[in-house]
Amino acid sequence: MIYHSHSPEETEAWGETCGKALEKGAVIAFSGDLGAGKTAFTRGIARGLGITSPITSPTFTLVNEYEEGRLPLFHFDLYRLEGEDDLYELGFEEYFYRDGVCVLEWSSRAEEFLAQFSPITVTLRQGEDPQQREIHIHPCPW
Ligand code: ADP
Ligand code: MG
Repeated sequence: MIYHSHSPEETEAWGETCGKALEKGAVIAFSGDLGAGKTAFTRGIARGLGITSPITSPTFTLVNEYEEGRLPLFHFDLYRLEGEDDLYELGFEEYFYRDGVCVLEWSSRAEEFLAQFSPITVTLRQGEDPQQREIHIHPCPW
């Protein structure tokens, strides 16, 4: 499905709709450039899961964990990942077996690894005006 957003709040609201529909073991693989709205959409997912702590980008930590929602949320940013072997070396594999929701920014860094978890792909594209985004979700969880 393709959804349209005209503000960060609207992107977050689509994320919230998504977060409410997710089941345990869900893996969300984002594509989209810097500033596309991946973290904004993730804030919405967190809200949809009932998480109230602030969601910040895990750029330096690579993964942030939030355990207070309906399901645990593991928010990854793989921008600094050099190769898929790093995932195993960092012990990241186990997050995918913890019955939570794994959300990955820059997921293309781990495309082969992620394939086994049948990820929901969320692609964010900038539209004509700076506030506009197209959000492609496949398969759509709701
Ligand atoms: P990413 O994680 O993809 O790098 P962020 O969510 O951190 O992106 O940032 C998105 C930036 O784009 C924010 O500065 C936000 O205010 C701006 N923005 C403008 N319009 C939108 C929109 N429709 N949806 C999401 N972000 C938007
Ligand atoms: Mg981000």
